[in-house]
Amino acid sequence: MEKIPRTHVVYAMSRDNAPVISIASGSDVCFETCDCFEDQIASEQATFTELDWSRINPATGPVYVQDAEPGDILRVAIKRITPRSNQAVMVTAPGLGVIGDQLQQPQIRTIPLEEGYALLPGGVRWPLKPMIGVIGVAPAGEAVPCGTPDAHGGNMDCKIITEGCTLWLPVNVPGALFALGDLHAAMGDGEVSVCGLEIPGEVVVNLTVVKECTLPTPMISTQEALYTVASAKTLDDAAKLATHNMAHFVADHSQLSLADAINVLSITGDLQICQVVDPLKTCRFSLPRSVATQLNISLD
Ligand code: CA
Ligand code: CA
Repeated sequence: MEKIPRTHVVYAMSRDNAPVISIASGSDVCFETCDCFEDQIASEQATFTELDWSRINPATGPVYVQDAEPGDILRVAIKRITPRSNQAVMVTAPGLGVIGDQLQQPQIRTIPLEEGYALLPGGVRWPLKPMIGVIGVAPAGEAVPCGTPDAHGGNMDCKIITEGCTLWLPVNVPGALFALGDLHAAMGDGEVSVCGLEIPGEVVVNLTVVKECTLPTPMISTQEALYTVASAKTLDDAAKLATHNMAHFVADHSQLSLADAINVLSITGDLQICQVVDPLKTCRFSLPRSVATQLNISLD
């Protein structure tokens, strides 16, 4: 299996990024990742203002996937996520996140990770569920900074993107140019502080090109549910787009009319927030597997 060291990073998803390696469709690849601060914070004594903010949200890659052409879908199976630190980093600061305006000064926290749990302030123990914050392909047009999510994936900060899930991304340029980074040992929906439990790590994915398949990407499939994921300038617009995408997906892949697809989704589906703190906001719409199965919809 090819392994990409964390020295090969990009700060924007771009068609102009030179690929680190080229792989055959169907291959497993291992990505070593830095944390979202490119591992600049070793302790709580680090100085917030001395951080190099041009080195934020590095994504390891990109990988050129052979035979991937614009219009195809890239199927990304997340096979393993391994944290590579026994502590995570968090920051809060005036202006950051949802309630940064209530804070007077920046603070850096290191959070111990022990035996599958994070030890949060106040002695709160919380189980780790490692996820990928930044994961995507090159967009067709202008480069998109790794801190921004959009139709190409990117900084979706979606806690469903964890070990065992499958992510479906559009192919916008030849080879797709896939990259990932910004692992969180755990995160709540919203990412309200602007941080998850930020960690370096290692991710193994399987990358497969799917031809002649139309999906409202990005999508995620898990054992429990199928999800559309959408990002937009406002939470309202992201919510609307995620819902539209799921309704059309269900109508296109079942016998249901669009109106009845909406009826079914209004009862069985959940509209959920991924994050509200990035340059575009991200929502997801979940359709339970049990409902998809009854409608003869599969996405594996
Ligand atoms: Ca992020
Ligand atoms: Ca992050």
